Amino acid sequence: MRPLKNILFLLILIPFLISISACSKNPYYKRNEFALGTVIQITCSDQRAIDIAFNEIKRVENLLSKYVSDSEVSKLNTSGKLKVGPDLLYVLTKAKEFYITSNGAFDVTVGPLVDIWKKAIKNKVLPQEEDIKKAMQLVGFDKVVIDEKESTVAFLKEGMSIDLGAIGKGYAVDCAIKKVRDYGTKSCLIAIAGDIYCLGNKNGEPWQIGIQHPRNKKDLLDALNLENQAVSTSGDYQQMVIIGNKRYSHIIDPRTGFPSDSKVISATVLAPDCLSADALATTIFVLGKTKGMDLVKYYKNTKALIYTEDEVNAFDTF
Ligand code: ADP
Ligand code: MG
Repeated sequence: MRPLKNILFLLILIPFLISISACSKNPYYKRNEFALGTVIQITCSDQRAIDIAFNEIKRVENLLSKYVSDSEVSKLNTSGKLKVGPDLLYVLTKAKEFYITSNGAFDVTVGPLVDIWKKAIKNKVLPQEEDIKKAMQLVGFDKVVIDEKESTVAFLKEGMSIDLGAIGKGYAVDCAIKKVRDYGTKSCLIAIAGDIYCLGNKNGEPWQIGIQHPRNKKDLLDALNLENQAVSTSGDYQQMVIIGNKRYSHIIDPRTGFPSDSKVISATVLAPDCLSADALATTIFVLGKTKGMDLVKYYKNTKALIYTEDEVNAFDTF
């Protein structure tokens, strides 16, 4: 009699457990908005937290985007010297650190070169060598003076300009995550294009992040399960132009003045914060696989998945 009783108990218990887990699943809300020149997707169990995150991202955009005419970055680019707030001071201090550790491969003073290549990508016409040479004289973080005490930033050459395209989105993700955490939310995913932070987990399961195949849009190169981690991917497939069978991407090698030619076509970095993941993913693109991996190893709790053209061609997709 006893075993039968146990079986009955189990039969009653199993549907009960199933219904408990079904009831305990939080509903999630997903919202997409456009800011920082791209689509932002936020998934969270609390609608108010989503509002808080979007507001914070827009605050950061209004400070750091060079496409917002009265942002601090635009004012600095116009005047060459500015007393800046804590956000820009912090981002530029970190940008300087990545400039040093990457031996100049990561350099937010690429502004003049970015403008030239952006035009080339849009018009599908290669720039004049002369223009590249001129622009290169205005590039180099060694020509930026940061006075942390006075909170001022100054360029040593007229015509210099900074472009935070490779670090600003990661910083905006970190700021939004901080706000959402302070509000008390334990589970949220914020994705500014390929710059993502996974806060907590989703109903007890890790967040699942797919890495897009850089050549076949519908395929995945990798799938990651993440909790409390940032991930950023830089690829040569979103903004680029093919001229004479050669692909020119939007990531510039500041040492040559030309788009990076390192053979890396997709670089994903996992890091404790999204600013670092964002900056490192771009840097790997310039440094190439071997030097890129060495740099990632230098940073604690940071990992990278780097694919070259040949590796991707030989890859079995998901
Ligand atoms: P995405 O903008 O597609 O997310 P990235 O994070 O890799 O890609 O950033 C690329 C952007 O960073 C470029 O559009 C440009 O604004 C800027 N940039 C390009 N080359 C460099 C570089 N070597 N160092 C720092 N910033 C760069
Ligand atoms: Mg980046």
